[in-house]
Amino acid sequence: MKLFPIFADLKNRRVLVVGGGAVAERKTLALLEASAHVVVGAPELTPALTELAAQGRIVYLAGRFDAAWLDDVWLVVAATDERAANAAVSEAAGARRIFTNVVDDPELSSFQVPSIVDRSPVIVAISSSGVAPVLARRVRERIESLFDHTLGQLAALAATYRKRIRASHPDLGARRRFYDWLLDGPVAGLLRQQQPAQAEAALTQALDAPLTPAEGSVVLVGAGPGDPGLLTLKALRALNEADVILYDRLVSDEVMSLARRDADRVGVGKLPGENHHATQARIHALLVEHAQAGKRVVRLKGGDAFIFGRGGEELEYLRAHGVRFEVVPGITAALACAAYAGIPLTHREHAQSVRLITAHCREDEDNLDWPALAREKQTLAFYMGVGQLELLTRRLLAHGRAAETPFALIENGSRPEQRVLSGTLDALPRLAAEHEIRSPALLIVGEVAGLASRLQWFGQHIDGSAIPA
Ligand code: SAH
Repeated sequence: MKLFPIFADLKNRRVLVVGGGAVAERKTLALLEASAHVVVGAPELTPALTELAAQGRIVYLAGRFDAAWLDDVWLVVAATDERAANAAVSEAAGARRIFTNVVDDPELSSFQVPSIVDRSPVIVAISSSGVAPVLARRVRERIESLFDHTLGQLAALAATYRKRIRASHPDLGARRRFYDWLLDGPVAGLLRQQQPAQAEAALTQALDAPLTPAEGSVVLVGAGPGDPGLLTLKALRALNEADVILYDRLVSDEVMSLARRDADRVGVGKLPGENHHATQARIHALLVEHAQAGKRVVRLKGGDAFIFGRGGEELEYLRAHGVRFEVVPGITAALACAAYAGIPLTHREHAQSVRLITAHCREDEDNLDWPALAREKQTLAFYMGVGQLELLTRRLLAHGRAAETPFALIENGSRPEQRVLSGTLDALPRLAAEHEIRSPALLIVGEVAGLASRLQWFGQHIDGSAIPA
């Protein structure tokens, strides 16, 4: 069976829906979206359909199907839960050459309703010709993830300016390049930033000066803790569109493998012998250099770029150099490690607050407020703590945190090799040394960490309290 795809204009056209249940309701709403004149025939209606009838937004024909319902109708949707009733509708409509869809019944249907991805005015319709609706749904999900929700606005803007674009770029090649610029450049970026007026201004400005130089930009993207499933759709899109990717050491290979094949990948972890300051200066220079060369740069960081990620410094540098940027948040290690270790960071009984703390504190430059940190009924999430466990534990205990406070140390959180070590605070340095916990690892201290033994569901769990000292 080969189907012919069409997009039907149903505006003010009479469409009959037979059936008054949940499915009929869904179909009715979709038809109303398309401004169809919907007539619903059924012995009874759902409350929502009843309401629509009361508001005069649909016409209600009470009772069982009657062929007279087909008068003046362009299309029919049969959504009763009796196959015989659906078949009768299909047959009567077919005799009058009216296209009919029987929901989930391709055999009785003369047209089918595709799955859609809606970025109006752009609509993508997907069909498996009725043979594999589950597959069609999968395809839809994939396509859904590819395009930002502002694509529709961009298409509408392009439509508004179509004549002027044609006039200012009469040559077909030049016009294509202009549309590429429109889809990839600052206009699309400004729409994603919810600045439609500026987007339109950028477009009209480009029309007046047809030779637009390529303008590069930077997207600061949080890559999450490692599991590629924890990327946001926006992060995935940015990776798909990147010309250059500057990535940190913490970004997992699985995440990198999702990036556009021909993007340049530049690892910007610390070079051997290089200090942090030099690394950061080198990154700043690279970002500006690539953006000014007209590239779409993705700056990819582990977790979230604004949590111990120096994202703020990089953006300040970009702003000072007039480089356009966007920020895509990522799932930070504390959230991911807690989730993958079965530790709720807050809890009605055990913790009313969470603190994200960098443990990268040398003994001589320790500015943390230890008395506050040592208070109970709060959760502490320490980043970069593996080398400092001895010091951390000593300080917390000295300031009054109980020796039996639970901790969980999550190594390689969300990755296949994840290990969770749990126990009580006084035993933390010893247990961590015994089990050779290595960076990257995140330390959670607080009553909630005790739940890890009960709620663990991912990777390997080592219950330190079960092992005699
Ligand atoms: N911007 C990052 C944090 C960078 S600091 C974020 O938002 O997650 C680096 C520290 O993050 C590591 O020392 C470790 O404490 C923590 N970390 C990052 N990824 C981790 C992971 N997959 N598992 C455990 N800890 C992780």
